[in-house]
Amino acid sequence: MSIALSNLTDIREKVEAGERLTFEDGMRLLTSNDLYTIGQLADLVRARKNGDIVTFIVNTHLNYTNICYLDCKLCAFGVKPDQPKAYALSLAELEKKFDEMKGKGFTELHIVGGVNPRLPFSYYEEMLRMAKAAMPDVHIQAFTAVELDYLSRVVHLPLEEVIDRLRAAGLGSILGGGAEIFDPEIRSIISGHKTSAERWLKIHRHVHRLGMRSNASILYGSIERPEHVIDHLLRLRELQDETGGFDAFFGFAFHPENTTLGREYHITGETTGLYDLKLLATARLMLDNFQHIRAFWMMIGLKLAQVSLYFGVDDLDGTVMEEQIVHDAGSQAPQMTPKESFINMIREAGRIPAERDTLYRILKTY
Ligand code: SF4
Repeated sequence: MSIALSNLTDIREKVEAGERLTFEDGMRLLTSNDLYTIGQLADLVRARKNGDIVTFIVNTHLNYTNICYLDCKLCAFGVKPDQPKAYALSLAELEKKFDEMKGKGFTELHIVGGVNPRLPFSYYEEMLRMAKAAMPDVHIQAFTAVELDYLSRVVHLPLEEVIDRLRAAGLGSILGGGAEIFDPEIRSIISGHKTSAERWLKIHRHVHRLGMRSNASILYGSIERPEHVIDHLLRLRELQDETGGFDAFFGFAFHPENTTLGREYHITGETTGLYDLKLLATARLMLDNFQHIRAFWMMIGLKLAQVSLYFGVDDLDGTVMEEQIVHDAGSQAPQMTPKESFINMIREAGRIPAERDTLYRILKTY
Protein backbone atom coordinates (compact mmCIF):
# COMPACT_ATOMS: atom_id res chain seq x y z
CA MET A 1 0.00 0.00 0.00
CA SER A 2 1.44 3.35 -0.96
CA ILE A 3 -0.49 5.49 1.51
CA ALA A 4 0.20 5.29 5.23
CA LEU A 5 -2.56 3.68 7.24
CA SER A 6 -2.60 6.69 9.57
CA ASN A 7 -4.09 8.84 6.80
CA LEU A 8 -7.47 7.35 7.55
CA THR A 9 -7.14 7.25 11.33
CA ASP A 10 -9.74 9.93 11.97
CA ILE A 11 -12.19 8.16 9.65
CA ARG A 12 -11.54 4.92 11.49
CA GLU A 13 -12.39 6.65 14.77
CA LYS A 14 -15.64 7.96 13.32
CA VAL A 15 -16.63 4.55 11.93
CA GLU A 16 -15.83 2.83 15.20
CA ALA A 17 -17.93 5.42 17.05
CA GLY A 18 -20.81 4.97 14.56
CA GLU A 19 -20.58 8.58 13.38
CA ARG A 20 -21.83 9.66 9.98
CA LEU A 21 -19.14 10.30 7.35
CA THR A 22 -18.94 13.52 5.35
CA PHE A 23 -18.44 14.24 1.66
CA GLU A 24 -14.74 14.88 2.38
CA ASP A 25 -14.43 11.56 4.21
CA GLY A 26 -15.99 9.82 1.21
CA MET A 27 -13.53 11.52 -1.15
CA ARG A 28 -10.60 10.43 0.99
CA LEU A 29 -11.82 6.84 1.08
CA LEU A 30 -12.44 6.58 -2.63
CA THR A 31 -9.14 8.20 -3.59
CA SER A 32 -7.01 6.39 -1.02
CA ASN A 33 -4.90 3.39 -1.95
CA ASP A 34 -5.13 2.03 1.55
CA LEU A 35 -7.37 -0.78 0.46
CA TYR A 36 -6.63 -2.76 3.59
CA THR A 37 -7.99 -0.10 5.97
CA ILE A 38 -10.97 0.71 3.75
CA GLY A 39 -11.88 -2.97 3.63
CA GLN A 40 -11.45 -3.37 7.38
CA LEU A 41 -13.71 -0.44 8.12
CA ALA A 42 -16.39 -1.54 5.66
CA ASP A 43 -16.20 -5.04 7.10
CA LEU A 44 -16.75 -3.65 10.57
CA VAL A 45 -19.95 -1.92 9.46
CA ARG A 46 -21.06 -5.00 7.50
CA ALA A 47 -20.65 -7.18 10.62
CA ARG A 48 -22.43 -4.64 12.79
CA LYS A 49 -25.43 -4.50 10.46
CA ASN A 50 -25.73 -8.05 9.20
CA GLY A 51 -23.58 -10.31 11.35
CA ASP A 52 -22.13 -13.23 9.43
CA ILE A 53 -25.17 -13.80 7.24
CA VAL A 54 -24.57 -13.45 3.49
CA THR A 55 -27.66 -13.65 1.36
CA PHE A 56 -28.52 -14.59 -2.20
CA ILE A 57 -31.80 -15.06 -4.03
CA VAL A 58 -33.04 -17.69 -6.45
CA ASN A 59 -34.36 -15.51 -9.24
CA THR A 60 -34.61 -15.10 -12.98
CA HIS A 61 -34.55 -12.11 -15.31
CA LEU A 62 -36.83 -11.22 -18.16
CA ASN A 63 -35.85 -8.58 -20.72
CA TYR A 64 -39.16 -8.12 -22.53
CA THR A 65 -37.91 -5.71 -25.22
CA ASN A 66 -34.59 -4.26 -26.32
CA ILE A 67 -36.23 -1.57 -28.44
CA CYS A 68 -35.44 1.78 -26.89
CA TYR A 69 -36.00 5.31 -28.09
CA LEU A 70 -33.47 6.81 -25.72
CA ASP A 71 -29.88 6.99 -26.83
CA CYS A 72 -27.86 6.46 -23.69
CA LYS A 73 -24.21 6.36 -24.68
CA LEU A 74 -23.50 3.97 -21.85
CA CYS A 75 -25.80 1.34 -23.27
CA ALA A 76 -25.12 -1.73 -25.39
CA PHE A 77 -28.62 -3.15 -25.04
CA GLY A 78 -31.13 -0.70 -26.47
CA VAL A 79 -31.65 -0.68 -30.26
CA LYS A 80 -33.96 1.11 -32.66
CA PRO A 81 -36.94 -0.85 -34.03
CA ASP A 82 -35.45 -1.18 -37.53
CA GLN A 83 -32.23 -2.82 -36.35
CA PRO A 84 -31.89 -6.55 -36.97
CA LYS A 85 -31.46 -7.40 -33.30
CA ALA A 86 -34.62 -5.54 -32.23
CA TYR A 87 -37.29 -7.52 -30.43
CA ALA A 88 -40.36 -7.10 -28.26
CA LEU A 89 -41.79 -10.30 -26.86
CA SER A 90 -45.45 -10.76 -27.72
CA LEU A 91 -47.94 -11.57 -25.00
CA ALA A 92 -48.10 -15.12 -26.34
CA GLU A 93 -44.30 -15.42 -26.09
CA LEU A 94 -44.40 -14.02 -22.57
CA GLU A 95 -47.06 -16.50 -21.55
CA LYS A 96 -44.90 -19.33 -22.87
CA LYS A 97 -41.88 -18.03 -20.95
CA PHE A 98 -43.83 -17.75 -17.72
CA ASP A 99 -45.09 -21.24 -18.24
CA GLU A 100 -41.52 -22.48 -18.62
CA MET A 101 -40.48 -20.70 -15.42
CA LYS A 102 -43.07 -22.51 -13.33
CA GLY A 103 -41.85 -24.94 -10.71
CA LYS A 104 -38.17 -23.98 -11.05
CA GLY A 105 -37.91 -22.71 -7.48
CA PHE A 106 -37.62 -18.99 -8.27
CA THR A 107 -38.90 -16.64 -5.63
CA GLU A 108 -38.34 -13.52 -7.73
CA LEU A 109 -38.92 -12.48 -11.31
CA HIS A 110 -36.88 -9.45 -12.33
CA ILE A 111 -38.38 -7.68 -15.37
CA VAL A 112 -36.63 -4.87 -17.23
CA GLY A 113 -36.58 -3.59 -20.80
CA GLY A 114 -35.97 -0.60 -23.04
CA VAL A 115 -38.17 2.48 -23.40
CA ASN A 116 -40.42 1.19 -26.17
CA PRO A 117 -43.33 3.57 -26.88
CA ARG A 118 -44.96 1.12 -29.27
CA LEU A 119 -46.10 -1.08 -26.42
CA PRO A 120 -49.50 -0.08 -25.06
CA PHE A 121 -50.11 0.23 -21.36
CA SER A 122 -52.28 -2.88 -21.45
CA TYR A 123 -49.16 -4.85 -22.48
CA TYR A 124 -47.48 -4.08 -19.14
CA GLU A 125 -50.57 -4.84 -17.13
CA GLU A 126 -51.15 -8.07 -19.01
CA MET A 127 -47.50 -9.12 -18.66
CA LEU A 128 -47.71 -8.74 -14.88
CA ARG A 129 -51.09 -10.48 -14.66
CA MET A 130 -49.87 -13.43 -16.72
CA ALA A 131 -46.70 -13.75 -14.65
CA LYS A 132 -48.73 -13.73 -11.45
CA ALA A 133 -51.25 -16.20 -12.84
CA ALA A 134 -48.44 -18.61 -13.74
CA MET A 135 -46.42 -18.08 -10.54
CA PRO A 136 -48.64 -16.65 -7.80
CA ASP A 137 -45.97 -16.94 -5.10
CA VAL A 138 -43.20 -15.26 -7.07
CA HIS A 139 -42.42 -11.63 -6.22
CA ILE A 140 -42.24 -9.45 -9.31
CA GLN A 141 -39.61 -6.78 -9.08
CA ALA A 142 -39.94 -4.85 -12.28
CA PHE A 143 -39.21 -1.64 -14.18
CA THR A 144 -36.70 1.06 -13.35
CA ALA A 145 -37.81 4.58 -12.49
CA VAL A 146 -36.81 5.44 -16.08
CA GLU A 147 -39.19 2.91 -17.61
CA LEU A 148 -41.99 4.10 -15.33
CA ASP A 149 -41.28 7.74 -16.11
CA TYR A 150 -41.42 7.24 -19.88
CA LEU A 151 -44.35 4.86 -19.69
CA SER A 152 -46.38 7.53 -17.92
CA ARG A 153 -45.40 10.10 -20.55
CA VAL A 154 -46.14 7.83 -23.50
CA VAL A 155 -49.53 6.68 -22.27
CA HIS A 156 -50.42 10.14 -20.91
CA LEU A 157 -51.26 8.90 -17.46
CA PRO A 158 -50.01 10.41 -14.22
CA LEU A 159 -47.13 8.47 -12.77
CA GLU A 160 -49.16 7.77 -9.64
CA GLU A 161 -51.85 6.06 -11.69
CA VAL A 162 -49.30 4.08 -13.68
CA ILE A 163 -47.79 2.72 -10.48
CA ASP A 164 -51.17 2.02 -8.88
CA ARG A 165 -52.38 0.09 -11.90
CA LEU A 166 -49.16 -1.90 -12.30
CA ARG A 167 -49.28 -2.70 -8.62
CA ALA A 168 -52.85 -3.92 -8.95
CA ALA A 169 -51.69 -6.14 -11.85
CA GLY A 170 -48.95 -7.77 -9.76
CA LEU A 171 -45.97 -5.42 -9.41
CA GLY A 172 -44.30 -6.11 -6.06
CA SER A 173 -41.43 -3.63 -6.02
CA ILE A 174 -39.41 -1.57 -8.49
CA LEU A 175 -35.84 -1.91 -9.69
CA GLY A 176 -32.87 0.21 -8.69
CA GLY A 177 -31.45 0.71 -12.18
CA GLY A 178 -31.39 3.90 -14.20
CA ALA A 179 -29.75 5.94 -11.43
CA GLU A 180 -26.43 5.99 -13.36
CA ILE A 181 -24.64 9.08 -12.05
CA PHE A 182 -26.81 11.85 -10.63
CA ASP A 183 -24.43 14.71 -11.42
CA PRO A 184 -26.18 16.58 -14.26
CA GLU A 185 -23.09 17.21 -16.37
CA ILE A 186 -21.96 13.59 -16.39
CA ARG A 187 -25.53 12.31 -16.61
CA SER A 188 -26.23 14.36 -19.72
CA ILE A 189 -23.18 12.89 -21.45
CA ILE A 190 -23.58 9.26 -20.52
CA SER A 191 -27.34 8.95 -20.67
CA GLY A 192 -28.64 11.88 -22.69
CA HIS A 193 -32.36 12.35 -22.33
CA LYS A 194 -32.81 9.88 -19.57
CA THR A 195 -35.01 10.77 -16.59
CA SER A 196 -33.26 13.43 -14.49
CA ALA A 197 -31.72 12.64 -11.12
CA GLU A 198 -34.41 14.67 -9.39
CA ARG A 199 -37.17 12.73 -11.10
CA TRP A 200 -35.48 9.36 -10.45
CA LEU A 201 -35.37 10.23 -6.75
CA LYS A 202 -38.93 11.56 -6.81
CA ILE A 203 -40.24 8.31 -8.29
CA HIS A 204 -38.49 6.24 -5.63
CA ARG A 205 -39.78 8.61 -2.95
CA HIS A 206 -43.31 8.12 -4.24
CA VAL A 207 -42.96 4.34 -4.37
CA HIS A 208 -41.61 4.29 -0.82
CA ARG A 209 -44.52 6.40 0.39
CA LEU A 210 -46.88 3.81 -1.05
CA GLY A 211 -45.17 1.27 1.18
CA MET A 212 -43.32 -0.42 -1.68
CA ARG A 213 -39.61 -1.16 -1.51
CA SER A 214 -36.89 -0.50 -4.05
CA ASN A 215 -33.13 -0.62 -4.43
CA ALA A 216 -30.55 1.93 -5.48
CA SER A 217 -27.62 1.74 -7.84
CA ILE A 218 -24.77 3.62 -9.46
CA LEU A 219 -23.08 3.18 -12.81
CA TYR A 220 -19.36 3.64 -12.21
CA GLY A 221 -16.14 3.31 -14.12
CA SER A 222 -16.89 5.49 -17.14
CA ILE A 223 -16.10 9.22 -17.18
CA GLU A 224 -17.24 10.19 -13.69
CA ARG A 225 -14.80 11.49 -11.11
CA PRO A 226 -14.69 10.56 -7.41
CA GLU A 227 -16.69 13.65 -6.42
CA HIS A 228 -19.55 12.50 -8.64
CA VAL A 229 -19.60 9.10 -6.97
CA ILE A 230 -19.68 10.58 -3.47
CA ASP A 231 -22.30 13.14 -4.45
CA HIS A 232 -24.39 10.27 -5.83
CA LEU A 233 -24.10 8.28 -2.60
CA LEU A 234 -25.02 11.28 -0.48
CA ARG A 235 -28.15 11.96 -2.52
CA LEU A 236 -29.23 8.36 -1.98
CA ARG A 237 -28.44 8.63 1.73
CA GLU A 238 -30.55 11.76 1.97
CA LEU A 239 -33.59 10.09 0.40
CA GLN A 240 -33.10 7.02 2.58
CA ASP A 241 -33.08 9.28 5.66
CA GLU A 242 -36.43 10.56 4.53
CA THR A 243 -38.19 7.34 3.49
CA GLY A 244 -36.18 4.31 4.59
CA GLY A 245 -37.55 2.55 1.49
CA PHE A 246 -34.33 1.26 -0.09
CA ASP A 247 -33.35 -2.29 0.78
CA ALA A 248 -29.97 -2.45 -0.90
CA PHE A 249 -27.37 -0.57 -2.87
CA PHE A 250 -25.40 -2.08 -5.72
CA GLY A 251 -23.05 -0.89 -8.45
CA PHE A 252 -23.09 -1.45 -12.17
CA ALA A 253 -19.46 -1.55 -13.29
CA PHE A 254 -19.32 0.08 -16.72
CA HIS A 255 -18.61 -2.39 -19.54
CA PRO A 256 -17.50 -0.31 -22.53
CA GLU A 257 -17.81 -2.95 -25.23
CA ASN A 258 -20.46 -2.14 -27.86
CA THR A 259 -21.22 1.26 -26.31
CA THR A 260 -21.00 4.72 -27.89
CA LEU A 261 -19.49 6.03 -24.65
CA GLY A 262 -16.69 3.50 -24.85
CA ARG A 263 -15.99 4.40 -28.48
CA GLU A 264 -16.20 8.20 -28.13
CA TYR A 265 -14.20 8.39 -24.92
CA HIS A 266 -11.75 5.64 -25.86
CA ILE A 267 -12.61 3.60 -22.80
CA THR A 268 -11.26 0.22 -23.67
CA GLY A 269 -10.89 -1.65 -20.41
CA GLU A 270 -13.35 -2.62 -17.76
CA THR A 271 -13.14 -1.34 -14.20
CA THR A 272 -10.29 -2.75 -12.15
CA GLY A 273 -10.78 -5.13 -9.26
CA LEU A 274 -9.31 -2.65 -6.79
CA TYR A 275 -11.70 0.09 -7.86
CA ASP A 276 -14.68 -2.28 -7.70
CA LEU A 277 -13.78 -3.17 -4.12
CA LYS A 278 -13.12 0.42 -3.09
CA LEU A 279 -16.43 1.50 -4.57
CA LEU A 280 -18.38 -1.15 -2.66
CA ALA A 281 -16.51 -0.51 0.59
CA THR A 282 -16.91 3.26 0.30
CA ALA A 283 -20.62 2.77 -0.37
CA ARG A 284 -20.89 0.57 2.74
CA LEU A 285 -19.26 3.31 4.80
CA MET A 286 -21.14 6.27 3.36
CA LEU A 287 -24.58 4.62 3.17
CA ASP A 288 -24.92 4.17 6.91
CA ASN A 289 -28.73 3.99 6.60
CA PHE A 290 -28.78 1.19 4.01
CA GLN A 291 -29.09 -2.28 5.45
CA HIS A 292 -27.54 -4.16 2.54
CA ILE A 293 -24.74 -3.77 0.03
CA ARG A 294 -25.01 -6.13 -2.90
CA ALA A 295 -22.28 -7.32 -5.24
CA PHE A 296 -23.68 -7.76 -8.72
CA TRP A 297 -21.60 -10.79 -9.68
CA MET A 298 -22.57 -10.59 -13.31
CA MET A 299 -20.73 -7.28 -13.55
CA ILE A 300 -17.62 -7.98 -11.51
CA GLY A 301 -17.38 -11.75 -11.78
CA LEU A 302 -18.01 -14.39 -9.16
CA LYS A 303 -14.46 -14.46 -7.84
CA LEU A 304 -14.31 -10.76 -7.06
CA ALA A 305 -17.85 -10.88 -5.70
CA GLN A 306 -16.60 -13.44 -3.20
CA VAL A 307 -13.67 -11.20 -2.21
CA SER A 308 -16.10 -8.28 -1.82
CA LEU A 309 -17.57 -10.10 1.18
CA TYR A 310 -14.53 -8.67 3.00
CA PHE A 311 -15.27 -5.16 1.66
CA GLY A 312 -18.69 -4.45 3.10
CA VAL A 313 -20.85 -6.69 0.91
CA ASP A 314 -23.45 -8.95 2.53
CA ASP A 315 -25.52 -9.96 -0.50
CA LEU A 316 -24.52 -11.74 -3.71
CA ASP A 317 -27.59 -10.99 -5.82
CA GLY A 318 -29.34 -13.85 -7.56
CA THR A 319 -28.95 -17.07 -9.45
CA VAL A 320 -30.38 -15.48 -12.65
CA MET A 321 -31.34 -17.76 -15.54
CA GLU A 322 -31.35 -15.53 -18.56
CA GLU A 323 -29.97 -12.04 -18.90
CA GLN A 324 -29.36 -9.88 -21.94
CA ILE A 325 -28.42 -6.36 -20.87
CA VAL A 326 -25.08 -7.02 -19.21
CA HIS A 327 -24.12 -9.64 -21.76
CA ASP A 328 -24.75 -7.29 -24.69
CA ALA A 329 -22.14 -5.01 -23.09
CA GLY A 330 -19.57 -7.76 -23.27
CA SER A 331 -19.85 -9.45 -19.90
CA GLN A 332 -18.28 -12.90 -20.04
CA ALA A 333 -19.97 -13.98 -16.82
CA PRO A 334 -22.17 -17.05 -17.10
CA GLN A 335 -25.94 -16.57 -17.52
CA MET A 336 -26.63 -18.48 -14.36
CA THR A 337 -25.03 -19.43 -11.09
CA PRO A 338 -26.56 -22.37 -9.25
CA LYS A 339 -27.32 -21.78 -5.61
CA GLU A 340 -24.79 -24.43 -4.59
CA SER A 341 -22.05 -22.15 -5.96
CA PHE A 342 -23.24 -19.28 -3.78
CA ILE A 343 -23.39 -21.56 -0.76
CA ASN A 344 -19.82 -22.78 -1.35
CA MET A 345 -18.44 -19.30 -2.01
CA ILE A 346 -20.06 -17.89 1.12
CA ARG A 347 -19.00 -20.79 3.33
CA GLU A 348 -15.45 -20.57 2.07
CA ALA A 349 -15.43 -16.92 3.12
CA GLY A 350 -16.32 -18.02 6.65
CA ARG A 351 -19.85 -16.65 6.49
CA ILE A 352 -23.31 -18.17 6.80
CA PRO A 353 -25.12 -18.61 3.47
CA ALA A 354 -28.79 -17.68 3.51
CA GLU A 355 -31.39 -17.70 0.78
CA ARG A 356 -33.56 -14.59 0.93
CA ASP A 357 -36.65 -13.33 -0.79
CA THR A 358 -36.86 -10.02 -2.66
CA LEU A 359 -37.62 -8.10 0.52
CA TYR A 360 -34.59 -9.59 2.28
CA ARG A 361 -36.54 -11.94 4.49
CA ILE A 362 -34.46 -15.03 5.17
CA LEU A 363 -36.05 -18.17 3.73
CA LYS A 364 -33.39 -20.67 4.68
CA THR A 365 -29.90 -20.68 6.13
CA TYR A 366 -27.35 -23.30 5.13
S1 SF4 B 1 -29.75 2.43 -20.84
FE1 SF4 B 1 -31.93 1.88 -20.84
S2 SF4 B 1 -32.95 3.81 -21.39
FE2 SF4 B 1 -30.82 4.04 -22.02
S3 SF4 B 1 -30.72 3.36 -24.18
FE3 SF4 B 1 -30.25 1.58 -22.89
S4 SF4 B 1 -32.18 0.53 -22.62
FE4 SF4 B 1 -32.65 2.62 -23.29
